[in-house]
Amino acid sequence: MKLCRFDDNQLGVVEGEQIADVSPALEVIPSARYPLPCADLLVLHLDAVRAAVTQLLPKAPRVALGSVRLLSPVANPPRIIAAPVNYLLHQAEANADGGVNFAADVKTIKDYGLFLKSSTSVVGPSEGVMIDFPQRRNDHEIELVVVIGREGRHIPQAHALDYVAGYAVGLDMTVRGPEDRSLRKSPDSFSVLGPWLTTRDEIRDPDNLRMSLRVNGVLRQQTTTRHLILGVRRLIEFASTFYRLHPGDLIYTGTPEGVGPVIAGDVMTCTIDGLGAMTVAVACR
Ligand code: MN
Repeated sequence: MKLCRFDDNQLGVVEGEQIADVSPALEVIPSARYPLPCADLLVLHLDAVRAAVTQLLPKAPRVALGSVRLLSPVANPPRIIAAPVNYLLHQAEANADGGVNFAADVKTIKDYGLFLKSSTSVVGPSEGVMIDFPQRRNDHEIELVVVIGREGRHIPQAHALDYVAGYAVGLDMTVRGPEDRSLRKSPDSFSVLGPWLTTRDEIRDPDNLRMSLRVNGVLRQQTTTRHLILGVRRLIEFASTFYRLHPGDLIYTGTPEGVGPVIAGDVMTCTIDGLGAMTVAVACR
């Protein structure tokens, strides 16, 4: 199932070029009281929501996909966990680039581990990316994003995909400079998620998906997730040795080679096999 959040926080099922508006399914989410659970409520109650969606679907009103504003399919991710340098060819280009962000040799995720981005940096494709520091270089990074569906710690690789709610296309935007990644990658709008949540059952192997990113129609990044240094299962295992994972947590799995700058007025088109394509405009404050 492909679930999107659109326009005024409506819930939709994507069917080709149409969206079925199944917003009444959101009524099955219990109203939360303080203190809120450490979870995205839609993802926490995804099974109940899907059951309600299935009932509503035959009679749901349809709208054209191209006529709506797509928001982040996960509205309140507790955390954004992200993988630095998880493709060898990206490591190579970062080193060839003179290590702009790094004082020494660029290593890989095996040395760096993981980092956290602010969950408030999440936007949907239609909201676009807003550049706050136009005097600095701002780079695009297309990434496969894993949406965690169940709470867990010390999750073994063999069972890792049982903890996944689904997948989406992500952009891990970056301001270049000497500061820590978590600062440079957390400005508002610097974590794009979309175009919708594709549930786990639709993706047979997350470690075998082709992806591409174009800027103004020109191909910049293209790879398959087969080239991930730590694949999806190993990332979940590794992350859960440090953190308890919660429903709605996002894991940005890392970007391949071809990262490059964007400026106001650019339009990025990001595609991953089975997850759809999203168009994201860049603006400047
Ligand atoms: Mn990244």
